[in-house]
Amino acid sequence: MAERLSFDIMPIADQLARLPEVDLKTGEMIAPYTSYQIGGPAAIWASPRSETGIGQVLAITHKAGIPLFILGRGSNLLVSDKGWPGIMLYLGDNISGWRFAGNEAAVLAGTPLIDLIRAAVDQGLGGMELMAGIPGGIGGALRMNAGAFGQEIQQTTIEIKGFRLDGTSFRARREEINFGYRHVPDLDPVVITSGRFRFKKAAAGMLKSRMDDILALRDVTSLGILRELHRWGAHAMVITVMLHMLRVFLTGSYKPPREFNWGVGVVLLVLTFLLSFTGYLLPWDQLAIWAITVGTNMARATPFVGSEGPGSALFMIGDVPLITAGSDVRFALLGGKSVGAAALMRFYVLHCVAIPLVAAVLMGVHFWRIRKDGGISGPL
Ligand SMILES: Cc1cc2nc3c(=O)[nH]c(=O)nc-3n(C[C@H](O)[C@H](O)[C@H](O)COP(=O)(O)OP(=O)(O)OC[C@H]3O[C@@H](n4cnc5c(N)ncnc54)[C@H](O)[C@@H]3O)c2cc1C
Repeated sequence: MAERLSFDIMPIADQLARLPEVDLKTGEMIAPYTSYQIGGPAAIWASPRSETGIGQVLAITHKAGIPLFILGRGSNLLVSDKGWPGIMLYLGDNISGWRFAGNEAAVLAGTPLIDLIRAAVDQGLGGMELMAGIPGGIGGALRMNAGAFGQEIQQTTIEIKGFRLDGTSFRARREEINFGYRHVPDLDPVVITSGRFRFKKAAAGMLKSRMDDILALRDVTSLGILRELHRWGAHAMVITVMLHMLRVFLTGSYKPPREFNWGVGVVLLVLTFLLSFTGYLLPWDQLAIWAITVGTNMARATPFVGSEGPGSALFMIGDVPLITAGSDVRFALLGGKSVGAAALMRFYVLHCVAIPLVAAVLMGVHFWRIRKDGGISGPL
């Protein structure tokens, strides 16, 4: 069911319809404009064909106090089935395109990021090629400082143009904007209409192979049922080991003479979690990379050995801290400061060789101790 409107739609729609540079619809479904193909009707859907048109729409809607939503390429949005009870300002195809001058490009907000990157790479211009797999448009990418594999859009940005919500123009150079990690609060009240970017000259062939590698990575061929079997088997293993531990606890089987075997079991439980964690990265897809990013970010807060953990400041030589982002437990896990090739190699070796070897030895000890301690434990 559509949401109740806080404004009288007809006079506003009439006013907007008179703008020559704006395509206008009422009740347009949003679903076709989002990657997830969801979203109910927008009370008003406006797609300006020029930057001037955007400013004109904003001036009208701001004056009338109509709720505004800026829709880019819709790759990062979950829109309610109830739709949007205001104006959906669509900056897509109508506001796309670019112009190169030397190693710089002026780019309209609706331009798909991948189109710009391909055009730049063709001309031997690098700086964004590792971001090739990020879906969405330039406006959305600037709005959240999109990035991947060590490249961020702010690194190539020279200037951003747009409008404030009241329709007055906005223009800021990169140095004037605080770019955070996937968040740019300074751009919160701004409708971005275009950006200017500076690329670095490089061999087009090299850039293209970097870009193709990244695109192939995002499109890793699934191993189908075998990988699924492995994945579900791994989940089942974690659940089974936890249930086993619960049973052992409830039956008091950690008490003498079984306390040694309880200790071995606890180590095996930790190894099971580590197997699960290291295995998560190996599909090398978006889920894997982000899950391990989050997981290893938590390692930063480990007491004493994490750079942000309690007690890490105790390890100093003079004024020089020993536990830093370049030497802490997160760094050791990843083999670097972010999830990259070194992390993949480390997790592969841990998952396939190191942890299974240690676990196999400990399982041998565990089963041997069960027999030595008098067989399967019952309630004590
Ligand atoms: C499978 C998948 C993988 C992804 N991988 C990455 C990744 O590796 N790295 C990464 O950084 N991001 C990633 N993203 C996030 C996303 O693709 C980016 O944030 C993208 O740049 C959003 O652009 P868009 O045009 O689709 O914006 P939309 O989804 O349309 O909008 C996103 C937000 O930006 C605002 N917005 C859009 N255009 C403008 C504009 N012109 N002016 C002001 N505000 C605007 C919208 O109001 C909304 O709040 C991923 C998303 C998906 C679904």
